[in-house]
Amino acid sequence: MPQILTEANLRSLIDLLVKESKLVVGPKQAGSLVLYEPLATGSDLKLGALPRRSSKELFFPICENILTFKKEEGVTKVQDVDRSAFPETVLIGALPCDASSPAILDAVFSWDYHDDFYLERRRKSTIVGIACTKGDDACFCTAVGYSPYGQEGSDLFLTPLTDGNFAVDVVTEKGQKLVDAHPSLFTEGKGAAPVSFQGPQGEKLDLAKIKEWLDTHFEDPLWQKIADICVGCGACAFICPACHCFDINDEGSADNGARRKHWDACGFAKFTNHASGHNPRDIQNKRYRNRIMHKFKYYSDKFDKTLCTGCGRCVRTCPVGIDIAEILDTINKG
Ligand code: SF4
Ligand code: SF4
Repeated sequence: MPQILTEANLRSLIDLLVKESKLVVGPKQAGSLVLYEPLATGSDLKLGALPRRSSKELFFPICENILTFKKEEGVTKVQDVDRSAFPETVLIGALPCDASSPAILDAVFSWDYHDDFYLERRRKSTIVGIACTKGDDACFCTAVGYSPYGQEGSDLFLTPLTDGNFAVDVVTEKGQKLVDAHPSLFTEGKGAAPVSFQGPQGEKLDLAKIKEWLDTHFEDPLWQKIADICVGCGACAFICPACHCFDINDEGSADNGARRKHWDACGFAKFTNHASGHNPRDIQNKRYRNRIMHKFKYYSDKFDKTLCTGCGRCVRTCPVGIDIAEILDTINKG
C-alpha cells in the first residue's frame, strides 16, 4: 500500500532525527543563499530548493585530514583519523540531480581504490530525495538521461502532491529502516495527484552519438574556441555534484602537521603538472577537453553513465558564461 507523509510530519521527522543525535542536513536559507546545512529543527528545511553548492561535500568534504603527525623526542608519531566518529547522517530534501550524485561517486570511490573516508560517510548516510517540481533555464537533467522524478541515489523518495502532502517511495533497506523507526508519521493511502514539473525539460541528447564524436575528435577546433574564453577558475568543478578530483598535501612543519585531502579541478593549470616539470595538459584547450571527455566519454566507458546530472550549476556559475548544455548540443548536432 502506498504511504503518505504530510509536510508537518516531514518536519516532525527532522525534529525526531535531530533528537536521536543524527546529523540532519538539507536545503536551508543562509543569508541570501540556500545551502545544504545542518538542520536544527524541521522548520529550517527549505523545501524544493536547489542549494547553491551540491550535496557531495557531505560525503566528500572540501578539505579533510587523512592523518596527523607529530615529532616527540625525536620520534615522529602518526595518528589515523577516527572514522568511527563520523556521524550518522540523514540528507533530506535533495532534488534528483543531487540525490543521484552519490550513486555516481560510489562507483569511483569503490573502484580501483576503496576510499574509506568517503565509503564510511556513505555507509552512515540515508538520503531522502524529493521530486523536482520547478526547473530553470539552466537545468537540463532530462537531456542527459536523468529526470525530475528520478529515484536513483535516494533511499526514500518523496513526491509532492497537489494537496501539499508527499507520496513516499521506499527505495532501499535504509529507507525502509527510516520508515519503520517512525511509523506514526507515515499513513497508508494513495493521496492526491502528483504536482506536475514546470520548466524546461531539455531535448534528450544522443549520448551515444556524443561519445562517438568524442572518440574521434580529440583534436578539434571546438576545444580552442572554448579555451579562448575559459579563465580556468575551476568553479564549474567545485560546484558540480559529480566532479570528484582531489589532491593530497602534507601541511605544517617537519615536526607537526597533517596530511590533507583537498578538492582539485582539471581546469587548473597545475592539476597535471608532473614532478619533472612536464605538464601534459599545459594549455587550457587540453584542460577543457578533459572536462568534457571525462564526463561524457571516460566515465561513460568505465561505468556506463555520464558524469553529469544536468543540475545546471556550472551554467549558472561560470563567470564567463560557458554553457555545457550548449556545448553538448553543438556536439550532438555535429
Ligand atoms: S557538469 Fe554542470 S550541469 Fe553537469 S552535474 Fe556538473 S555542475 Fe551540474
Ligand atoms: S567556471 Fe567557466 S571559466 Fe571557470 S573553469 Fe569552468 S568553464 Fe572555465
